[in-house]
Amino acid sequence: MVPSVSTNKSVHDLPTPEPESPARSRKPYKFSTLCATVENPNLKDQYGASSVPIYQTATFKGVAGEYDYTRSGNPTRSHLGQFQSEFACHIFHRNKYTIYGLTMHHPAEHHLAKIYSASHAFTVSSGMAALDIITRLVKPNSSIIAGDDLYGGTNRLLNYLRNNNGVTVHHVDTTNPSSILPYLTPEVSMVLLESPTNPLLKIIDLAKISAQVKERAPDAVVVVDNTMMSPYLQRPLEHGADVVYDSATKYLSGHHDLMAGVIVCNRDDLAKHIAFMINSVGNGLSPFDSFLLLRGVKTLAIRMDRQQATAHLVAEMLHGFGFNVLYPGLDSHPDRDIHERISNGAGAVLSFATGDKGLSEKIVAATRLWGISVSFGCVNSLISMPCVMSYVTFLS
Ligand code: PLP
Repeated sequence: MVPSVSTNKSVHDLPTPEPESPARSRKPYKFSTLCATVENPNLKDQYGASSVPIYQTATFKGVAGEYDYTRSGNPTRSHLGQFQSEFACHIFHRNKYTIYGLTMHHPAEHHLAKIYSASHAFTVSSGMAALDIITRLVKPNSSIIAGDDLYGGTNRLLNYLRNNNGVTVHHVDTTNPSSILPYLTPEVSMVLLESPTNPLLKIIDLAKISAQVKERAPDAVVVVDNTMMSPYLQRPLEHGADVVYDSATKYLSGHHDLMAGVIVCNRDDLAKHIAFMINSVGNGLSPFDSFLLLRGVKTLAIRMDRQQATAHLVAEMLHGFGFNVLYPGLDSHPDRDIHERISNGAGAVLSFATGDKGLSEKIVAATRLWGISVSFGCVNSLISMPCVMSYVTFLS
């Protein structure tokens, strides 16, 4: 006989996980549980589907509904980061500004905002699309301070701004926080950081640089590319960054089956601008890719733990062979202590220098399991030679 359970609550009233956010500091669940629990009390599925359905539609019928056009908002994407649609529908289409104020009170139910401990999260079509949206905050004829070891695509976009938008870009050695001081003038509108850097695994003291910028150039926006860490290992908003983005093509999705970018922030003014731009250019993540990303994020923590443990073994082995291994989990990394202060782990990307291009080519070609490919963060391992692959633009 099936025992009967007496309760006044319907199953639909059962509590969903409390979000972590600056507004609600309670942390009742482990990060891995938060990742796996895609629940939004404000977005209950009409049939109680336990996996978020794909709303593969461009338009929505009716005039008073929450959604009207997928560029502006889509229910599948809303589970990742709802504000884009909230802003788009209510502020820009129907001009009901007050609704914006109301939605601000329960923002962190949305999955990515929840796991980044952020007030606002947005998902776009790639990591570079995220940076494109963010750089639209840069005023014409102002300047950007950026690192000197950046992802090649980032460098390409900065070059475009320099050559076409009259923006000055100062590349400085951000491993030395004082190197940015001479450039922190009122003309700076953005400080763009990456830590660890890709591919040299340089460590940047995000907290120190953010504090310096706030003190000397308070109007400048501190932006961090967090792709090499994911929100599981590092949450730069907690160290003073204003805007953080991730290429979700990497760890967040984890299977190299989609391109996506995530932007998070706590400042309402920046969120409003970002939402406006995403709706204007139309690069919000598609319904199908939103579904894939939601599925990938569920296993983020468990994948990262395993990938990181394996990367550590490989780093130690290569170090033992006498290569110059760049990995913040090794004692030999010069800034391991800074990295440990700002993050929760060394990650799963490492570089090693052989000092000989021919030897590097032989090693890359001899690996049996590891595909020769750009990118990282997938459940299977990859190996690449940045000097002839993703960093050619940067080097040239
Ligand atoms: N940032 C870093 C550190 C990257 O490695 C990449 C891609 O490799 C990007 C940004 C760009 O992301 P996407 O390829 O999703 O546009």
